[in-house]
Amino acid sequence: MSQTVTLAHYVDGKRVDAAATLPSLNPSDTSDIVALMPDGDASVVALAVDAARRAFPGWSATTPEQRFDILDRAGDLILTRRDVLGRLLSREEGKTLAEGTGEVVRAGRIFKFFAGEALRNAGRFLDSVRPGVEVTAIREAVGVFGLITPWNFPIAIPVWKTAPALAFGNTVVLKPSELTPAMASALADILHEAGLPAGVFNLVFGTGAAGAALCAHADVDGLSFTGSQATGARVATAAAARQARVQLEMGGKNPLVILADADLDRAVMCALDGAFFASGQRCTASSRLIVEDAIHDRFVDTLAARAAALKVGDALDTATQIGPLVSQAQLDKVQSYLDVAPREGGRVLATGAVPGKGGYYLAPTVVADTTLAMRVNREEIFGPVASVIRVSGFDAALAAANDGAFGLSAGIVTQSLHAAQQFRRRVRAGMVMVNLPTAGVDYHVPFGGTRKSSYGQREQGFAAVDFYTQYKTIYSWA
Ligand code: NAD
Repeated sequence: MSQTVTLAHYVDGKRVDAAATLPSLNPSDTSDIVALMPDGDASVVALAVDAARRAFPGWSATTPEQRFDILDRAGDLILTRRDVLGRLLSREEGKTLAEGTGEVVRAGRIFKFFAGEALRNAGRFLDSVRPGVEVTAIREAVGVFGLITPWNFPIAIPVWKTAPALAFGNTVVLKPSELTPAMASALADILHEAGLPAGVFNLVFGTGAAGAALCAHADVDGLSFTGSQATGARVATAAAARQARVQLEMGGKNPLVILADADLDRAVMCALDGAFFASGQRCTASSRLIVEDAIHDRFVDTLAARAAALKVGDALDTATQIGPLVSQAQLDKVQSYLDVAPREGGRVLATGAVPGKGGYYLAPTVVADTTLAMRVNREEIFGPVASVIRVSGFDAALAAANDGAFGLSAGIVTQSLHAAQQFRRRVRAGMVMVNLPTAGVDYHVPFGGTRKSSYGQREQGFAAVDFYTQYKTIYSWA
């Protein structure tokens, strides 16, 4: 067992004294308290927003090269500490060591990508329609951003919001998930060490109340949120009430279509990786497997056998392939879907072994014989559960994929170029995968979905500039 760290808010370049009362537990071994954190309220949120507001004029006036240097250094610090940070991530969130370290590396790379973005000229220079007048549209920083993040990518998501905000000259207040505070605190340490001026990045711990206070604060110009659809709706309402810009990334119910001509091994690999890795706790998880008749039985039998063979266990054990769920509440929620599925006609297929006690373990589970009307196919489960829907052909598969409230990621496994092209054009999703799992995305391209999955402008990659800057159009008589 490792030691418990006591965390403090980080405001205006300094740690703030406050009673640390809320524990964050190791989901692989709940007797291990990873961290104790303070329960932030509106008063500490106000201090952090004030610090960010005061830091904004200075930071937005830095040169792109100055911002490049700091963000690039933060990326290097993360990459150098990948093993220590990856271990902390696995201990606090429950991803396996390979997944945790992989996420840390990704966070480092995102900082380095956005260091480069700081230098990219995103303005436009045009001739005016009036003779003798020049017109230039420049992009400038917006101000103070409130960033609210979930637990399932405890460093990558805070970084993919923080890095573009800072690269384009904004200042931020981050409110991370109450389940993964130690990783957020490590991010504050790294930015401090990279030389970020005081007040440019601030961190406030707490529950939803701290997040709500950040949304309501009149001096926060923009809000970027990743989390559940229900919370996202509250964030959007709070932003609309005071006309703040807002961006939401929410849930998914991502379909993976497997056509009769698919390579069976590839189809099973895509389903296993997409549905079960990171214990299915990914918004892009392949949670609905839509399978054409002719391949259905072979696919389901092979998938169930391979799923049952996956090793479930302590995230810090290098032999583990599937770690625990993040919390008791999450375990109970996922289990409730497995209880209801048979009553609705689903067939829950044999699952593998789990450690008897100590953590929030659940074996990867396949639910066969499901229909689109069942709850397992309508609601986001966010656990290692994949439901299978049998369909008669491409049109039925596409209709099934397009059914439901969400539209984040969608995939197809086929050897037909025509079917793949039809699918990628006609599927209602923000991201489309051909012969790949629905999960697993790059950081230099836009990320986001349609319908109830996303709201507002896209995140990440070259699209991030749209949300974190605003145009200013300048006319000059020349
Ligand atoms: P959540 O909505 O419970 O919490 C997210 C964050 O919002 C936390 O920091 C929480 O403290 C805060 N919060 C809670 N109530 C609030 C309020 N009233 N006002 C402001 N902030 C508040 O989500 P979660 O359980 O942490 O994360 C899981 C969810 O995140 C899943 O639904 C998953 O699909 C989604 N997710 C989406 C993406 C994506 O990019 N689409 C990525 C990862 C996770």
